[in-house]
Amino acid sequence: MTLTDHLSSPRLPSVGLLSEGQMRGGACVFCGSVATVDLGRHDMRCLGAVVHWFPRACRPCADGGYVDHLIAAAMSVCRELPPPPQLTDLYRRLQHEVRRRLPIAERAAAVAGQGTMSCHAHQRVVDAAIDALTDAAVDDEPSPLVLAMRCHELGRRLHDLVPYRPCGDS
Ligand SMILES: [Zn+2]
Repeated sequence: MTLTDHLSSPRLPSVGLLSEGQMRGGACVFCGSVATVDLGRHDMRCLGAVVHWFPRACRPCADGGYVDHLIAAAMSVCRELPPPPQLTDLYRRLQHEVRRRLPIAERAAAVAGQGTMSCHAHQRVVDAAIDALTDAAVDDEPSPLVLAMRCHELGRRLHDLVPYRPCGDS
C-alpha cells in the first residue's frame, strides 16, 4: 500500500503512465507542467521490491487544482476513449476523490440540520455520489465504453463535490 491509497491524500497517477520528467520530479505528477512542490516520499512495488520515489507537483495542482485536471479528463473520456490502462487509472483516481470528499459533504448536511434547504442541497450531492460509487461495485469487468461512461458520471459527481475540501488539502 502506498501513501496515496489512503483517503488522506490524493491518489497519484499510476507510475506506468508517467513521463520520464514526471518520474524524475521535474514535471508535475498530475499535469506535466513544471513542478515546484515536493509531495514527500511515496513507496511503490516494483517486481516484488519496494521502491521509494519522490513525486513533485506544480503549485496549482498542489493547492488542489489537480481535481480540475481529473474532472476535465473525465468529461472528455467519452469523446476520445483513452487506452485501457489510462482509463482504469482515471477511474480509480476519480473514485478515490469522490470517496475522499463524501464524508465532508455528509458532515455539511448534518451540520446544516435536518429539514433545512441547505441540508437538502448537501444531501442531494451525497446521494448522487453514493449512487455513482455503488453503480461501479456491481460489475467488476466493465467494457471500456461502460468504464468511460462511469468516469464521466464520477467526473460530474466530483464537480459537485469540489467545494467540500478534505482536511489535509491546503
Ligand atoms: Zn500540475
